[in-house]
Amino acid sequence: MKAAVMRGTQQLVIEDVPTPEPGPNQVLVKIKYSGICGSDVHRFQYGMMNSGSVMGHEYIGEVVQTGASVTLLKEGDRVVSGGGTPPPDAPVSRLRNDRYSARTVGLGAITVGGFAEYITMDEWRPLPIPDSVSYELAVLAEPASIAVHAVRRSSFRIGDTTVVMGAGPIGLLVMQVLNAGGAESVIVSEPAPGRAAAAKVLGASLVMDPREEDVVARVLELSGGLGVPLAFDAAAAKPTLQQGLEMVRRGGQVLVVSMAWEQVDLLTVEWIGREVEMKASYGSEPIDWLTTLNLMERGQLSEKSMVTSESFIGFDDMQSSMERLMKPEESVQIVLVP
Ligand SMILES: [Zn+2]
Repeated sequence: MKAAVMRGTQQLVIEDVPTPEPGPNQVLVKIKYSGICGSDVHRFQYGMMNSGSVMGHEYIGEVVQTGASVTLLKEGDRVVSGGGTPPPDAPVSRLRNDRYSARTVGLGAITVGGFAEYITMDEWRPLPIPDSVSYELAVLAEPASIAVHAVRRSSFRIGDTTVVMGAGPIGLLVMQVLNAGGAESVIVSEPAPGRAAAAKVLGASLVMDPREEDVVARVLELSGGLGVPLAFDAAAAKPTLQQGLEMVRRGGQVLVVSMAWEQVDLLTVEWIGREVEMKASYGSEPIDWLTTLNLMERGQLSEKSMVTSESFIGFDDMQSSMERLMKPEESVQIVLVP
């Protein structure tokens, strides 16, 4: 089968590799779509992956072969790339390491991921896609589970006015989850016009351009001078964390769901006196995947303006797309069709 193999920093090579064989408790999945994540771009950009490894963790596809002992899935099932509950005897996740760093560990241990034609998975790992959910929406299940996890970890309460900084895939999905959860309104801050337009289509009450206006002043004005109870940093741009901490009200919270690979600016004196809270969110749990698939089935998450005809690329465009994604980007989601 074909796969996009890392062969050095910023170097992806399309190679023929052996098609994996499912073990007795595994299924073989033919990959339909495989989303490119910002974290894949970072690993490409900063040389985080071992030579010979295949990235890609946002894939969906169809079960085409099952191991002899498989009972949970059958051939023809449409599945997402994760979300299942590990059995009690599954190996302990390395994320439980107390000194885990997404920069130095990341997904570096993965040898075969979703930038390939086929993948094997333990049968408990993938979840079936509900019949009414299209592949185009389902390919957002993994990033949507990250968004659900972030909102569940946050101090969000129904009726809150919230701000989301950054309208990339995660920011747009956080915004949709907040609206599904009963936000009074979601204000979005995003400089790229294409992404700002997507935020409007998908339900932002207001989209601010941080290059054109003082977003902290605007949020204070909109909230009667007090600030909002909750802001999400889904951008990891140099000023966004400080902006978030300044725009929340006394005791408010900034939920950080983006990963900055370069230093960001903080001036504590501006917000320490209001005893604001900063909280991190990383990855997702099985409950977040189930919630995501429920929201998709109920029509409360949409791929509109995120996954479009311009999103889809073939193996031949992988290298150039990764290079393009290293710079500020107009398109929202790029999807490999292996
Ligand atoms: Zn991801």
